[in-house]
Amino acid sequence: MEIGALEIEGYSLGGVETVVHLPRLRLAIDVGRGPDSLVRADHIALTHTHMDHTGGLPYLLALRQLYGMSPPTIYVPDQMGDKLEDMLAAWSRLQRFDSHYTLARVHPGGSYPLNRDLELRPFRTHHVIPSVGYCLVKTTQKLRSELQGLAGPELVALKAKGVVITEARERTLLAVTGDTLVEVLDKEPHVLAAEALICECTFLDERKPYAKARAGGHIHLDDLMERTAAFRNETLILSHFSQIYSREETARLLEPFAQRVAVASVYAFPTLPQQAWIGPLAGT
Ligand SMILES: [Zn+2]
Ligand SMILES: [Zn+2]
Repeated sequence: MEIGALEIEGYSLGGVETVVHLPRLRLAIDVGRGPDSLVRADHIALTHTHMDHTGGLPYLLALRQLYGMSPPTIYVPDQMGDKLEDMLAAWSRLQRFDSHYTLARVHPGGSYPLNRDLELRPFRTHHVIPSVGYCLVKTTQKLRSELQGLAGPELVALKAKGVVITEARERTLLAVTGDTLVEVLDKEPHVLAAEALICECTFLDERKPYAKARAGGHIHLDDLMERTAAFRNETLILSHFSQIYSREETARLLEPFAQRVAVASVYAFPTLPQQAWIGPLAGT
């Protein structure tokens, strides 16, 4: 699916498997059970180390080695870095060959470059184990606003005098919350202005009592209904639905939210590989 400037693939079913893949950037944010398509991901950013988000990691590392590919960089919340290395070391002992990877232990507020103009910026999320979300930020050099309208030769002359004629502009192309309580939207309001936001919304109606949704560290649709005015994204993708909802129910239950929120396009992320996205939902 083309979302703004990005190609985004993947699927998410709460507790079962979550994969967000940006194939053109060779970036995966969570790897689920390690689908073949992710073998090309040179950058693997983990929101947290629950099995449904991280389980396929050792398999992907082994596949990359089988195919003679370069070691990927794995980004993981700092508190879980040692434990992730222990797990990968255990697989090395089981297989009697070393896993090759670079580990980046990430901190909320830090910046991790993917290439010359793109970086990952983790932000703190609120789950039942250490967790982060990720912003994907693109920086471009643009002509300084006060110089707009000057002719080319004038700009060349200014530059020759040593005047800096450009300034850095940042665009947050995408924010991905991973699993979290809704507090992330109040404490990290910048994610509500990302061009596209993939936001977890595990529970959609009273079949999951609100208190139990919170106890599991998850967002309930009631949380988002209270915040419809806050979203300033161009595209909002809701994700990580519980297995208790069918595809038809998901579309129906999200409808009132999609009608209230002032976002151009609201989608529901697929829950299975190859499944079509739900949306854009009505009211958009
Ligand atoms: Zn999950
Ligand atoms: Zn989780």
